[in-house]
Amino acid sequence: MDSMTFVLFGGTGDLAKRKIYPALYNLFIEQKMPSSFSIIGLGRRGMSHNDFQESVEESIKEFSRGETTNSFKMVEFIESIRYVQFDATNKEDYKKLLKFVGQREQELNIPENRMFYLSVAPEFFDMIALNIKESGLGSTKGWKRMIIEKPFGHDLISARELNEKLSKAFEEEEIYRIDHYLGKPMVQNLGSLAFTNPILQALWNNKYIANIQITASEIVGVEERAGYYDHTGAIKDMFQNHMLQMLMMTAMHLPKEISAKEVANEKTKVMEALRPLQIEDVATHVIRGQYGPGVLNGENVVGYLHEPGIEETSKNDTFIAARLWIDDDFWYGVPFYIRTGKRMKEKSTRIVVEFKNPLKELYGDQIEDTLPNLLVIEINPNEGMSYVLNSRNPANGKTESIKVDYANDNKDVPEAYELLIHDALRGDSTFFAHWKEVELSWEYVQPILDAFKEQLLPLHSYPSGSYGPEAAHSLLREDGFKWWLDE
Ligand code: NAD
Repeated sequence: MDSMTFVLFGGTGDLAKRKIYPALYNLFIEQKMPSSFSIIGLGRRGMSHNDFQESVEESIKEFSRGETTNSFKMVEFIESIRYVQFDATNKEDYKKLLKFVGQREQELNIPENRMFYLSVAPEFFDMIALNIKESGLGSTKGWKRMIIEKPFGHDLISARELNEKLSKAFEEEEIYRIDHYLGKPMVQNLGSLAFTNPILQALWNNKYIANIQITASEIVGVEERAGYYDHTGAIKDMFQNHMLQMLMMTAMHLPKEISAKEVANEKTKVMEALRPLQIEDVATHVIRGQYGPGVLNGENVVGYLHEPGIEETSKNDTFIAARLWIDDDFWYGVPFYIRTGKRMKEKSTRIVVEFKNPLKELYGDQIEDTLPNLLVIEINPNEGMSYVLNSRNPANGKTESIKVDYANDNKDVPEAYELLIHDALRGDSTFFAHWKEVELSWEYVQPILDAFKEQLLPLHSYPSGSYGPEAAHSLLREDGFKWWLDE
């Protein structure tokens, strides 16, 4: 791997502390960092290199999944870190930064490969990218890349504007848009499931699949994020990015070769085949909800409107369920159901594939009423896969459903940020969100945002600690289905 400089904008922020430094450190101890590297953290406050290094070490000790007791390794890692006081709005600071980056490159004798990680509020993305170009930070003799965090725009127009601006400073191949769901091992596995299992490949189409359900439910409420969440809601915070990315990964066809370009191509095809929603149809296919008070783990919790920092008249969505259709030869007629929400009964990200039962058509009543075959892919917090099949119980002669289970008990797996940063350092963008995917996702979501704004659909209240509003269950009942695995 090429030696490089890792410039972290927002180096004193929460994300940097909880995820980015621990990820870099774990990569380092697993020998997945280049042989020489320089890490430069930026923040607005004045601070000495020493104080900053100490605070990074503390974060690693607090948040790292792996070994932090090897003081020799820790010292070696921390020694690679420097701090620069930096204000993104001040052009002079970019020049100062350029000088410092160059100085460190010379000291360490490393080439001008520069990774710019923008862990800052989205309003800084375009300003920072443009100033990287103008200041000369981006004019390197080596490579330059930029990792950016979500959100990428807040609607279709703003996303296009942002992309337009970023593309003035960076080529699309140089931009790594993080969607940390794409860093989860079981999501990364989705693309290769059908590749490695001929059984699945044979069944992965509308002849055998009745419907697919993608759920991401959380127990937590809005927590301390009221200011951000109350104008974002589940639709922008989860649905437009993470949920649609999981849909693409599930529905994409086998690429001709596993390369970033081919995978992006196949994902884009899924989005292009997604049946667009007209604003007047949103209410038929989308359910929005907001949590009310309820009981969670035996404790009473307040509803969304009584959370600190939330307006009592807020119409923000904390739950979304939707029915989507992919009109291509493979998936035509198979509904994809997506739901995501806060303050739900359990924390679970999973995909359930419900298979059809063609035997019923052949044998009709001769077949006992059995459950459909299911393939369940558990993404978070557990990782695993199971099949729900039918089998005759020898004790009573009855056919019963059985579960064939695989659970990944190895808790020592790399975190999403580790996998993704490692990929970006290697120049592999397979598990990042590419512009076309992001744009098509916003295109799909825009009529839903418009319908919300015009209040064209009800805002259903659901009790905290439930599986969401009753309307989300009716959505599937209309089609003769139900959400699987709700207790
Ligand atoms: P934070 O508020 O904790 O940190 C923000 C950082 O930006 C700080 O280091 C601060 O010094 C810096 N900053 C602010 N104004 C600046 C300026 N004018 N010039 C230079 N630096 C400035 O935020 P965070 O939680 O670390 O999130 C960072 C980004 O990541 C945001 O875009 C957020 O939306 C995104 N994100 C965060 C999380 C998370 O779990 N925290 C998850 C997904 C995405």
